[in-house]
Amino acid sequence: MTSVRPQENLNPSEIAREQFNIAADLLRLDESMRAVLSVPKRQLLVSVPVKMDDGTIKVFEGFRVQYNVARGPAKGGIRYHQDVTLDEVRALAAWMTWKCATVGIPYGGGKGGIRVDPHKLSQGELERMTRRYAAEIAPIIGAHIDIPAPDVYTNEQTMAWIMDTISMMSGGAQLGIVTGKPITLGGSLGRAEATARGCRFTIREACKELGINLQGARVAVQGFGNAGSIAARLLQEDGARIIAVSDTKGGVFNPKGIDPIAVLKYKEQTGSVVDFKDTDRISNADLLTLDCEILVPAALENQINLGNAQQIKARIVAEAANGPVTPGADRVLFENGVFDIPDILANAGGVTVSYFEWVQDQYGFFWTDEEVNKYLEKTMVKAFCEVYEKARKYKVHLRTGAYCLAVSRVAEATRIRGIFP
Ligand code: NAD
Repeated sequence: MTSVRPQENLNPSEIAREQFNIAADLLRLDESMRAVLSVPKRQLLVSVPVKMDDGTIKVFEGFRVQYNVARGPAKGGIRYHQDVTLDEVRALAAWMTWKCATVGIPYGGGKGGIRVDPHKLSQGELERMTRRYAAEIAPIIGAHIDIPAPDVYTNEQTMAWIMDTISMMSGGAQLGIVTGKPITLGGSLGRAEATARGCRFTIREACKELGINLQGARVAVQGFGNAGSIAARLLQEDGARIIAVSDTKGGVFNPKGIDPIAVLKYKEQTGSVVDFKDTDRISNADLLTLDCEILVPAALENQINLGNAQQIKARIVAEAANGPVTPGADRVLFENGVFDIPDILANAGGVTVSYFEWVQDQYGFFWTDEEVNKYLEKTMVKAFCEVYEKARKYKVHLRTGAYCLAVSRVAEATRIRGIFP
C-alpha cells in the first residue's frame, strides 16, 4: 500500500479530533462547547458469539458508537473488516456527525463495525453473526435513536437481516430501523447509487469552479466497490475517461480508457479487477499519483498522506471514501492547488438518500427514482455552495470550510437544547 511517514499520526480518532479542532479554533468555540463536541456520546463494545458451520463457536468483537445526537438520531453504517477498531469506529461516527450537519439533514452521527474478515465466513455464518450483533446492539438502536446502514463489506442483505432480527424481537415490522434495505422491505430507489451519484454532483460543481471540462477528463478510482465502481460508471456517462481502477488485489491502467461496466462484470466473475483485458497492472500506490484530472479514493482511510501528497497530480480529489486524506496531506494538497472535495461533502449522497428512505418509511409512501435524484442533486449542490462559501470566507481548504459549517450547526443545536439535566 501507500508509503507512510512515521512522524504522521494516523490514528483515525485523533485525526477526526484534529480536524474538529481546526474548525473550533476558527469559529472561536468556547471551551465548554469544545468539551461537549470533541467526545463521543455513547460507545458500546459487544462480544458476538457465532456457531460456525463446523459446530465450533467463534467470538467476534463488535462496536457501535453514537458520536453526537444534538440534531437528531444517530446515523451511520456498519463495517465488517478484519482491521476494524473502536478508534476507527469512533472516528467514522464523528465524521457522520459532521457529514449530516454539512448537508443539513436532521441526524447526528454514529457508526458500527465487527472485527472480522467476512470473506472467510459462509453465508450462513454471516447471517448468524449479523443477527447476533443486531441483538447485541438492539438496546441502543431504533428509528428515532440510532439508524444503521451499509458500509464496507456490508450490503442490503445485511440490512434485511438486521431489520428482521429487530422486528422479530419487537413483535412488529420495524422498517425505519435501518436504511440501505432492499426495495421490497421499504428501501428507497436510488439508494444503491446515491453515494456515487452525490460524489458525481460535487465533482461537476468543482469542474465548473475550476473550468475543467468533464468530457474527456481522466479519472482514476481507488477501490472498486459500491462507491467506486458506480462513481466510475456515472463519470463515464458524463463523458469522462476512466484510466485506472483498483481493489485490494491491485489495479489496472489504460490511458485510452477502461469500460467500468465491463470491469465490474469481470470482477464479479474473477473476484478482482486485476488482469482485465487491454490493461496494464498498476499498484494502489501508483494509481494515486497518476497524471489525471480527477482522483476518486473510494476504499479506506489514510491513503493520501505525507508520504505521497506531494506526488498527487490530479486537479480534483473527490473523497468517496471516509478519511482517505490525512490532515498533513490536506495542507500539502491545498498549497499545491489540488481541489480536494472532503469526505463529509463528497460522499454525503449515501446518507442523504438514507434519510429519504427513512422519511419514506415513516410515511409508508414511496418516491420515484426521478424524485430521489432530484432532491439528492438539490441537497448536494446546496451543500457544495455553502461549503465553498465558508472555505472562501476563512481562506481555508474545503475540508475546514465544511467543518466550520457543520460544527457551527451542531454547536448551535447543542446550545439551544442545553445540557440535561
Ligand atoms: P465496498 O465494500 O462496496 O467496497 C470497498 C472496495 O474497496 C472493494 O473494491 C475493495 O476491494 C476495495 N478495497 C478495500 N481495501 C482496499 C485497499 N486497501 N486498497 C484498495 N482497495 C481496497 O465498500 P463501499 O461501500 O464502496 O465503501 C468504500 C468507502 O466509501 C468506505 O470508506 C466507506 O466508508 C465509504 N462510503 C460508502 C458509502 C456507501 O453508501 N456505500 C457511503 C459513504 C462513504
